[in-house]
Amino acid sequence: GAADLSCDVLVLGAGPGGYSAAFRSADLGQKTILVERYATLGGVCLNVGCIPSKALLHNAAVIDEAKHLAANGIVFGEPTIDLDALRAYKQKVVGKLTTGLAGMAKARKVEVVRGIGRFIDPHHLEVELTTGSCQDKTGDKKVIRFEKAIIAAGSRVLKLPFIPEDPRIIDSTGALELKQIPGKMLIIGGGIIGLEMGTVYSTLGARLDVVEMMDGLMQGADRDLVKVWQKVNEHRFDRIMLKTKTVAVEAKTDGIWVTFEGEQAPAEPQRYDMVLVAAGRAPNGKQIGADNAGVAVTDRGFIEVDKQMRTNVPHIFAIGDLVGQPMLAHKAVHEAHVAAENAAGHKAFFDARVIPSVAYTDPEVAWVGLTEEQAKAQGIKVGKSVFPWAASGRAIANGRDEGFTKLIFDEATHRIVGGAIVGTHAGDMLGELCLAIEMGCDPTDIGKTIHPHPTLGESIGMAAEAFEGVCTDLP
Ligand code: FAD
Repeated sequence: GAADLSCDVLVLGAGPGGYSAAFRSADLGQKTILVERYATLGGVCLNVGCIPSKALLHNAAVIDEAKHLAANGIVFGEPTIDLDALRAYKQKVVGKLTTGLAGMAKARKVEVVRGIGRFIDPHHLEVELTTGSCQDKTGDKKVIRFEKAIIAAGSRVLKLPFIPEDPRIIDSTGALELKQIPGKMLIIGGGIIGLEMGTVYSTLGARLDVVEMMDGLMQGADRDLVKVWQKVNEHRFDRIMLKTKTVAVEAKTDGIWVTFEGEQAPAEPQRYDMVLVAAGRAPNGKQIGADNAGVAVTDRGFIEVDKQMRTNVPHIFAIGDLVGQPMLAHKAVHEAHVAAENAAGHKAFFDARVIPSVAYTDPEVAWVGLTEEQAKAQGIKVGKSVFPWAASGRAIANGRDEGFTKLIFDEATHRIVGGAIVGTHAGDMLGELCLAIEMGCDPTDIGKTIHPHPTLGESIGMAAEAFEGVCTDLP
């Protein structure tokens, strides 16, 4: 049939992957259409992910910092918390960014079509138009003909089958709505998202329990980092249940009753005022009619791509959470640029050596490249250098010297293969380590670089110098 609209490049989904792909396509001279079911651009990250969580975490960190000052003789009273005003602040932050994106799309002449998209064949997408939210369908449809497509439909919260529907049981999106602060809260899943939201709720007054199936919180990070975080945060938790499964959840009038199984599980069901389910995210690959376009989707809903971000159909690309782990915004953005450049006829590859991870807890836990554990598992002869923040003038002056900065080297080449920082502002400093790994730096490159004093970032230079000191055979 005839198409209502046509374009060179169609981008499905307007999260960090989708909007980045659309902007790059337009910049490369392609006629670009961006399809998004929600009223605002920005996807999970801007609307219900990275950004609103950081807006709340910032407020929590200031409250906690003010409490630390008591030790220095500066005592504030208990804060009074107006949840409506705090929520409005968070929404204002989100609004500034999503409005900014809409402006950028307009400036680049990217046409935004609001609606739910489904492929109908390898060159056509049908869109059920929506207004306010994706539930408000206008009843109208549009068919878009495209030469190339970039699928960026993202992921959604993973639902656990045995968990009932109840307003007291929330996911990360519900947690960001900040409807109320419970007395007692359970977090199911001890990953980054659960612990970030737990930090916010705990600082605002909730007591926490956390349950995790694996043998440690924040899987993926070296244990020495997590240990520092845990020591500072122990006061927030009544129970940290590791190697423990949640086996039953029952909504009763007096609370949510949860039964656990495992080594550290309490024998009796426990009562909670609120339960946050943060057990992972599922890709949206099965909801876009991919098979009509011939695009292969795995059983779990992921779409497999090559290093050029191409699916099995050569003119259709896929990027972001939908193509696999790690499900992170900065990964989606880089994949987006690769896909858009290839779609425009250039030749580009996703060949990042490393993708950084950060938990924006207090203190922050940030790591990139190989962890010590991974380096050992790969048979690399690992050299490491740790600079404890107890020796950092700035960290001591800040009253927050509980962190450390760690560099991991390949002893054979002296190249940096990994690095990690635990401490306040760790995430803001991690970029230097990412650059060092991408550029193949050795400790001399970093150690001989003059870092500003006194800063927390200087700890990276100090860690490198310490390693240099013990290495006599540097090239
Ligand atoms: P998404 O952001 O999921 O966007 C996909 C878009 O596609 C959505 O807007 C969706 O509505 C749209 N869509 C899907 N299907 C259709 C369809 N059929 N038709 C039309 N539109 C459709 N990452 C970080 O890097 N740092 C963080 O600090 C961080 N914090 C997070 C905190 C939370 C609470 C959560 C939940 C996530 C966080 N993430 C963070 C992860 C980050 O949000 C994702 O990795 C990122 O949003 C993925 O981008 P994407 O473009 O792949 O997909």
